[in-house]
Amino acid sequence: KTMTKDEIRAKVKAEHVEFIRVTFTDVMGTIKNVEIPVSQLDTLLDNDVMFDGSSIEGFVRINESDMYLYPDLSTFMVFPWSEDAHGGKVARLIADVYTADRKPFPGDPRHALKEAVKHAQKDGFTEFNVGTEPEFFLFKLDENGKPTMELNDHGSYFDLAPLDGAEDVRREIVLTLEQMDFEVEAAHHEVADGQHEVDFKYANALEAADKIQTFKLVVKTIARKNGYYATFMPKPISGINGSGMHVNMSLFNEDGNAFAGGEDEFYGLSETALHFLGGLLKHAPAITAFANPTVNSYKRLTPGFEAPVYIAWSASNRSPMVRVPSSRGIGTRLELRTVDPTANPYLTLAAILTAGLDGIDNHLEPSSSVDKNIYLMDESERKKAGIKDLPDTLLDALEELENDPIVIDSVGQHITGKFIEAKRIEYSSYRQFVTQWEIDNYFMNY
Ligand code: GLN
Ligand code: MG
Ligand code: MG
Ligand code: MG
Repeated sequence: KTMTKDEIRAKVKAEHVEFIRVTFTDVMGTIKNVEIPVSQLDTLLDNDVMFDGSSIEGFVRINESDMYLYPDLSTFMVFPWSEDAHGGKVARLIADVYTADRKPFPGDPRHALKEAVKHAQKDGFTEFNVGTEPEFFLFKLDENGKPTMELNDHGSYFDLAPLDGAEDVRREIVLTLEQMDFEVEAAHHEVADGQHEVDFKYANALEAADKIQTFKLVVKTIARKNGYYATFMPKPISGINGSGMHVNMSLFNEDGNAFAGGEDEFYGLSETALHFLGGLLKHAPAITAFANPTVNSYKRLTPGFEAPVYIAWSASNRSPMVRVPSSRGIGTRLELRTVDPTANPYLTLAAILTAGLDGIDNHLEPSSSVDKNIYLMDESERKKAGIKDLPDTLLDALEELENDPIVIDSVGQHITGKFIEAKRIEYSSYRQFVTQWEIDNYFMNY
């Protein structure tokens, strides 16, 4: 699927591309880009596009700020919606970030994920396959094009029009994704008012992370075109479901899906799958820092809204942190339900994969499957069953990360250091802010 430089040049000409967005992702998970006119295409293809990384969140200090962008040729794509002022098109290439002395930059999240995938390959796996289920809300734009807090509709799970007010927008999102080589499997209204989900086919971890970033761009772009604002904020409204981004995963080797077990095996899961799960459960508290990286993330991880709160797994269709979807054989997989769409997909997948490999390398056994409704168990019952709580604030999660050398290593010291530093500042800024809840509960009572 990778295009040659000549094929890219030919396509740029044939499609009248006038600009190329060279994109990458910062440590916070935000997609960034430098736009070059086609006259600079050869410079880009020769890995000679430079930028100053000093102002990018989580990148470098001022004195070492020159960086190079190395485009990944397999990611070339012409945006279907893009037309500049005189009818030209805009394309994009996702780039890896290199330092001034031409080494992979240790602060580049995409590089961290590539390293984690190499570890899996050393362990004999060919592919870490990942399918995600990102959810989002649509809010109305006002007459000045500013986002409001007014939802687009009051539909619910799997509703149709007129309860579903967004079928046209969702279809346009799906069609646009299809033009961009996504294989969309389903799209539907989600449980909460104004909430939607679009599912696309699994891919290897790197491609899956790239796709999440592209997906968000498409959803936001198409929503805006239709008079809506799309947000991936995990919990925009109290009292109703938040938005998650379930991560379905499996490891493949030369023989196929290494998670698939025989009929006589425990739940049809292989020993590899169970050890991977053991690693995932062990490192779940630290992974949460990457999977749920905002103050708001922890308002989603509360009881009663289909989001996990406890570190547990189930082979039946309950709602714990890890679920085993019913498909077996090639489709055998684990579904991690904590992750929300504010997660940096590169860092989160690197952490998840490394945790699972730690489980495989050290033959970690998962705790027993919880097939009761955990929300109906009291604290002592949970304790007896060995069920721990997920971190319940960003601060707790950061502390867990600081104490988990395996998860720190999964993305490297540079990224972890920058991440924790920035997130501590974020938490402390939040802590200084007085909320409406405090006014409502304390103002008149004291
Ligand atoms: N929105 C729920 C969450 O926060 C998930 C709902 C679902 O897909 N079943 O994770
Ligand atoms: Mg789903
Ligand atoms: Mg869903
Ligand atoms: Mg799901």
